[in-house]
Amino acid sequence: MPEKFDVVVVGAGPAGTACALTCARNGLNVLLIERGEYPGAKNVMGGVLYRQQMEDLIPEFWMEAPLERPVIEQRFWMMDKESVISFGYKGLEWAAPPYNNFTVLRAQFDQWFAKKAVEAGALLINETVVTECIVENGKVVGVRTDRPDGEIYADVVVLADGVNSLLSKQLGFHKEFRPDEVALTVMEVINLPKEKINDRFNLEDNQGCTIEIFGDSTKGNLGTAFLYTNKESLNIGVGTTLSSMIKAKLKPYELLDYLKNHPMVKPLIAGGESAEYLAHLIPEGGFRSVPKVAGNGVVVIGDAAQLVNAIHREGSNMAMHSGLLAAEAVIEAKNRGDFSESSLNSYREALYNSFIIKDLEKYKDAAHTFEKYPQYFKEYVPMMNQAASKFFTVDGTPKRDKQKQIIKNMTSEKGTLRVLQDLYRAWKAVK
Ligand code: FAD
Repeated sequence: MPEKFDVVVVGAGPAGTACALTCARNGLNVLLIERGEYPGAKNVMGGVLYRQQMEDLIPEFWMEAPLERPVIEQRFWMMDKESVISFGYKGLEWAAPPYNNFTVLRAQFDQWFAKKAVEAGALLINETVVTECIVENGKVVGVRTDRPDGEIYADVVVLADGVNSLLSKQLGFHKEFRPDEVALTVMEVINLPKEKINDRFNLEDNQGCTIEIFGDSTKGNLGTAFLYTNKESLNIGVGTTLSSMIKAKLKPYELLDYLKNHPMVKPLIAGGESAEYLAHLIPEGGFRSVPKVAGNGVVVIGDAAQLVNAIHREGSNMAMHSGLLAAEAVIEAKNRGDFSESSLNSYREALYNSFIIKDLEKYKDAAHTFEKYPQYFKEYVPMMNQAASKFFTVDGTPKRDKQKQIIKNMTSEKGTLRVLQDLYRAWKAVK
């Protein structure tokens, strides 16, 4: 007789582990299945973990979790070929509890997090691939794995299998994602002594900095690059939508090389030793790409449900929160003894009432707008850099004349109407 659980969770990333932990704490019999050698072995993240959604699951987790640095400064760079406009926020209130967010290395963090689910009573099996859901009479009743006799039954299957989610595709919850719905990102972990990191980023030992880089980091294509500080390493990465990559014939590794050799970036990473090279997709379709998230005996969470806010680089927190909401719905369903789609739709309802879908809806037109009108990254970032250079160069020209000249340059190059149209369109996309 094959084994039966209350819940089988597929994937021990932030979403799956959050769900397994919450279900197990509430007395459910939970199996967490991970294809990697251990949780985190296959996982990739720029590295910012958000405090609030993690603390909702494990209060004061920073006392014991393997974290790198609390982030006390967030910088944004609008970068041209030999210049950058930089802005951001640094606050010492983020250097002490309860903090704001942290840099992490996923291979360490995911293992620790999954251990918490195991301590709460979940059973974790690694190196096991779920190949399909078992469907009987229109209801998901379990999963088939690549192990001999690998059929496992459950009242509810939680799909937390990440961006590609072949399993929810097999169920017909979504089609193959289009190239403009996913970004391909490559990143490198570069070892660098802590003293060098502190000096170069103006930090103390237990303080971190993140830099998001737009413009020339992607050669003007829709996408971003990032540079984050760990304790004794830096995470540097760059990504664009697959469609931009195909259109501009970009090769991801060439883009990362270009970034690492950029005169604004090179001095910050100089002398570092490459420790890891990783590539991964990010679901960036946003609100319009969120698939069906609940069916008979099944729910979909995290990246598998396209829950990423690319504008604010939030993914892990949405994964965790969706895992928590799904667990609450599964617990209610268990109490009712009803695992039908209409019962599990309480997860969908909670998701749509949460910050997750509200934020995705706010930016529903952003990716499409910036992809369709490439002038924002390609033309405006260089124009703004040139304007800043002109404005800040002290050459005896009166400031008012400089201002007039800058506006004239911008509008004569593109036409006043087009500039106003572009500004309005960008504002509409992010308002
Ligand atoms: P994942 O973390 O992808 O976990 C899915 C798990 O399922 C994996 O462990 C995988 O091995 C397992 N799995 C998949 N298929 C199967 C199967 N068939 N059987 C068994 N196991 C399976 N988010 C942030 O919050 N901050 C950031 O700074 C940030 N930076 C990022 C930078 C990069 C380069 C990338 C790629 C992403 C970044 N994200 C960031 C997004 C974030 O990583 C994801 O949103 C988050 O990891 C989603 O969690 P998840 O649990 O849904 O999926």
